[in-house]
Amino acid sequence: MKKIVIYVFLIIGICFLIPIFFTTKFKIKKKNIEEPPVLLDIEKYNYTDFETIKLLHNSTNEVEEVNLDEYIAQVVSAEIPVDYDIEAIKAQSVAARTYTVYRIIHGSKHEGADICDSASCCQAWISKEDRISKWQDDGINKWNKIVEAVNSTVGEVVTYEGQIINAFFHSNSGGKTETPNNVWGGGDYPYLQSVETSGEDAYSQYSSEVTLTREELLNKLKTKYSDIQINFDLDEEIQILEYTESGRVSKVKFGNHEISRSRSKKHFRIKSNKF
Ligand SMILES: [Zn+2]
Repeated sequence: MKKIVIYVFLIIGICFLIPIFFTTKFKIKKKNIEEPPVLLDIEKYNYTDFETIKLLHNSTNEVEEVNLDEYIAQVVSAEIPVDYDIEAIKAQSVAARTYTVYRIIHGSKHEGADICDSASCCQAWISKEDRISKWQDDGINKWNKIVEAVNSTVGEVVTYEGQIINAFFHSNSGGKTETPNNVWGGGDYPYLQSVETSGEDAYSQYSSEVTLTREELLNKLKTKYSDIQINFDLDEEIQILEYTESGRVSKVKFGNHEISRSRSKKHFRIKSNKF
């Protein structure tokens, strides 16, 4: 008799869950659909059309018009260590050029400029003079290596179905990349899906650590959640509640608050949500 009652409850439960499953799935799918506007036919793509770029310098709020390949060299020199293999620097040049041309075609986040010089907003950037002086030794030869990588890939961009892609890039994925939707929300890109990447553990910044005292942790959280309370005697007061498909944290519980991935990363200055 007891078993029958359990089965009846199970069936009732499943009946409630089925519509929830379908409606949730439908909603997620609907949100992810983003038809990219066909703005450039790759057959008609002519790199010489993109001679200069309007670059916003965040520190001064000034917009500078720079030759595109000079700009790409400056970006590449800021994004990748110069002692990497020339083929890696060439790949970085193509990624940086693709991202830049995409921004020019699809419009910028910045009024009056195509792109800005901030790594956390658009792409890292450093002037040639600053770059060479920061390298200290052998600066000219190092700069020439960057220029060689940029020049030997002139005009090369990454495309998907005849369109230039939105080429986001990062230094290390921790072994598996994340879909942009799980990083910034918004649209999904068919060409940027989560994939496993080998060899990343050989990179010096593969892992890092942040250590905080209980007081430091609380104080950091209090800047955003003034009523936060954590009972440090109970294990369940701090716990990871949800992961994304790639194994990154999407929701974490701190006492009486549940915090999303972006907030937890920002609060504790950790480099990745793969923690
Ligand atoms: Zn920007």
